[in-house]
Formats: sequence, structure tokens, C-alpha cells
Amino acid sequence: MSPFDLHTHSTISDGTLTPARLVQRALARGLDVLALTDHDDTGGIDEACREAEGTPLRVLPGVEISVTWESRTLHIVGLNVDPGNHTLAAGLAAIREGRDVRARRIGESFAKAGIHGAFEGAKRYVTSERLVSRTHFARFLIERGHARSMQDAFKRYMRAGRPGHVEHAWAALGDAVSWIHAAGGQAVIAHPARYGLTATRMRRLLGEYRDLRGDAIEVISPSHTLAEAEDSARCARVFGLLASTGSDFHDPDESPLDLGALPPLPMGLAPVWSRW
Ligand code: AMP
Ligand code: MN
Ligand code: MN
Ligand code: MN
Repeated sequence: MSPFDLHTHSTISDGTLTPARLVQRALARGLDVLALTDHDDTGGIDEACREAEGTPLRVLPGVEISVTWESRTLHIVGLNVDPGNHTLAAGLAAIREGRDVRARRIGESFAKAGIHGAFEGAKRYVTSERLVSRTHFARFLIERGHARSMQDAFKRYMRAGRPGHVEHAWAALGDAVSWIHAAGGQAVIAHPARYGLTATRMRRLLGEYRDLRGDAIEVISPSHTLAEAEDSARCARVFGLLASTGSDFHDPDESPLDLGALPPLPMGLAPVWSRW
């Protein structure tokens, strides 16, 4: 267990617990610090903070921003962001609009592949009218028996070349980092080993990120094997980045790790919380 869990989702994006329920679960599991980092939306932070008032839990306002870098999708977590910051809010609103357009195109793409009503089906799983995600499509595919689990749905339908994958341009890396900084937060590259980057490309990303004044990378994540966590730790040391940790929790049944169920950070790293 780690007392810090700095990457989690609620019904404001593609999680299934409301922000208040997520806070209750974090309290029950004895966490000290919980960052709520919904995809492209900070709309759950007020509710989470209110629920934690008068308890020993500290809720950190966060967000996970979708980014396109060298034609790949990356996720940049912002920690300790001010949700009222206009630069950040405007950037996130633009990304969410793009999500609606993309979801319609994904629906059309499924129809061409013979799976009809996917857009409407995914919409039934949407828990915030402001945000539709591939996770909602995956839940629809499971319901219809097209996939056995989330992993299976993503493997079969969401990879490049499959119907659930359409080209889409998210925010630029530099924009995401600058919005997070404008909102007073720290930028963290989420689950860096999940992107399938070659070592050369990873070095290019981290060099660019450091030049943009990016703060940190996630070292401990359910997306990482032990070896990948060690690799990410090495990257943090070499590029002088802080280290973060998070369960990427979405749902008690779907998610591989429960809140705070995280191994400690490897030795010799400066954790993100050393700057709080
Ligand atoms: P989107 O931002 O709409 O492209 O959806 C991405 C979301 O899909 C991620 O935030 C995860 O919650 C989920 N996801 C991506 N890959 C997988 C996977 N292999 N298994 C389960 N969920 C996944
Ligand atoms: Mn997600
Ligand atoms: Mn992510
Ligand atoms: Mn996430």
C-alpha cells in the first residue's frame, strides 16, 4: 500500500464511482492523499473536496489531459491544478468537443464493421454528458457479447486498424504542459511505458518534455511491469524528473489495482510530493 494515490477516475470521465464514492473508498482504504485526475475534465473536484472535508484525507485537484505527440496519443496528468483557471478550463473544453466528434466517427466505423448502434450504446454508459470515451464503447461491446472484458474489448476493437480506432488530434504536448503550469500545477507523463515508444523516441520525448519544463513522470502504474517501472525510474533519474505513483483506478471490478494498492517508488527518486 502507498499512502499516496495520484491517478484516479470518477463518473466525471470514464470511472464508475462518483467523486464522493471515490473519496469514501479512499478513506476506507486509509489513504492520506488522493488525486482525482479525470480525463480532460476537472468537474468532479468540488464534490471530492467537499466529501473529504473534516476527514484525514487530502484531495489533490488533478486532471489527465489527452495529447497527440508525433502521431501518438499520450496522457499528461496535472497535479494540484486550480480548476478555476481559465486557460486550463478553455483547453479542456476544446478537447471535450473533439471527443464528441470522434465518438460519432467511432460509431460510424463500428457500423461499417457490422456493429450497429455503437454510438447510442456507448452513450448509455456515459455518466457525464460532457465526456464520452472509448471506455464507454468498450462497456457496450461487453454488454453485447462482442468482448469478454475491458482488456479483451481494447485488444479486439480499439487498436490501430480496428473499428474503435479512428485518427484523432488531441492537444499539443506543449499546450498541455503550459495549461497545467498556468493553473499552478505539476505536469506528469502518465504510464510512459504504455506508449510502445522505442528507446530513441522515449529519449526524444523526455528531452522535449524537459525543455518544456515538464515536472515528472509516473513510475508506478498498473500499466507497467516491474521492469518497465525500473526503466521509468531510470528515465526520471537521467532527465532530472520527479517521480509519481497512481493506480489509474476506474472501477472496483474492472481495474487491476484498487486505490493505493501500489508498491513503493524505487530508491533514489525525488517524489512529486517532495515539492508540495
Ligand atoms: P479515450 O481517452 O477515449 O481514447 O479512452 C482511453 C481509455 O480507455 C483509457 O483512459 C483507459 O481507461 C481505457 N483503456 C485504454 N486501453 C485499455 C486497455 N488495454 N484495457 C482497458 N482499458 C483501457
Ligand atoms: Mn480512462
Ligand atoms: Mn491514461
Ligand atoms: Mn488514467
